[in-house]
Amino acid sequence: MTQTNPSGEPYLSIENLWKAFGTFLALKDISLEIIEGEFVCFLGPSGCGKTTLLRAIAGLDLQTKGRVLQDGKDVSNLPPSERDFGIVFQSYALFPNLTIEKNIAFGLENTGRKKPEIAARVNELLQLVGLPEQGKKYPAQLSGGQQQRIALARAIATNPGLLLLDEPLSALDAKVRVHLRHEIKELQRKLGVTTVMVTHDQEEALSMADRIVVMNQGVIEQVGTPTEIYRDPTTLFVADFIGEMNQINAVAGTSGRIKIGEAEMISRPHNFAAGTPIIAAIRPEDVIPHGDDALSPGLTDEISTQENAFEVTVDEMEFLGSFWRCRLASKRFGDTELIADFSINAVRRLELGEGKQMMIELPDDRLMAFDRNEATQ
Ligand code: ATP
Repeated sequence: MTQTNPSGEPYLSIENLWKAFGTFLALKDISLEIIEGEFVCFLGPSGCGKTTLLRAIAGLDLQTKGRVLQDGKDVSNLPPSERDFGIVFQSYALFPNLTIEKNIAFGLENTGRKKPEIAARVNELLQLVGLPEQGKKYPAQLSGGQQQRIALARAIATNPGLLLLDEPLSALDAKVRVHLRHEIKELQRKLGVTTVMVTHDQEEALSMADRIVVMNQGVIEQVGTPTEIYRDPTTLFVADFIGEMNQINAVAGTSGRIKIGEAEMISRPHNFAAGTPIIAAIRPEDVIPHGDDALSPGLTDEISTQENAFEVTVDEMEFLGSFWRCRLASKRFGDTELIADFSINAVRRLELGEGKQMMIELPDDRLMAFDRNEATQ
């Protein structure tokens, strides 16, 4: 079984990969390295090329140009049967006329193993996926979640060096999905198998991946850990695709400054020339609420960046269980409303309600500037 390689050598390298379907370019010059033992998610909207890239790694579709290297070996032109991977698809793809045991044993039977050895391995796998009693049943007698666990057992039966998961959870209902997320991640950690999963579900990618590859229209937009992708998006597409993000028309000032309406504010450092139209962006949970007395320290936190603090009116409040989503209007912002997620404690402490005026602060290290052209492309 593959173990995490402490040297961090790439196990899978994708080099300048292109895929054309007729004149349509589904993948455009993709290069990516995946470290041994890593769990990587390909995330992006429908049609961005995630599945095409996964299928190229598996050899199910051949690339038009470029190379795929697995464990140092060029596998670019090998058929799937000569590559070392296990795969799980969205549809459970179990053989309906075979028992669960036989389904799992299927891939083991052509490997020269003896019957008792196969039976022992099947039992071990059934234990591993938490279904030790189900071996004699047929797929139709199992729930969707159970079938997908069997598909996973079958995929890892021969100890492949690479596990490929193509939207394995998207056919399941929400509760099972969340549970299985956790189980798959735990199993992957235990086995240390290098894993690539395709998903369009950002929560799934954020909660499962060591690194996320965000794709858009056949190219990679950003590669990073879930926190990097969420906290430090490098493009407006990534900022917009993952989580909620306020996007406000603004103009660049000198580096580290931006102008929103009449308001000059301090932002993260940026490279836009002064006067360039930009999009200022901040996540709703990064907006800091302050009380009426915020300018005089005492009951509420002190404002740390005076330039970025201003008065707003609470226009609408929506209770979302663990927090309040508030729409805030400010004269300085013109028609733009700002969405802010405030904790239940903050709302109680500041006695917030619709129509109430309050001070907020957009912390400079959370206020980002993006190319406005990207938004209109
Ligand atoms: P989804 O989440 O909807 O599966 P995806 O990101 O996995 O999307 P792909 O299935 O990789 O997207 O498809 C990428 C693009 O390539 C799409 O525009 C799709 O229509 C196109 N495409 C995929 N397979 C073929 C094919 N066999 N022939 C022609 N076009 C294809």
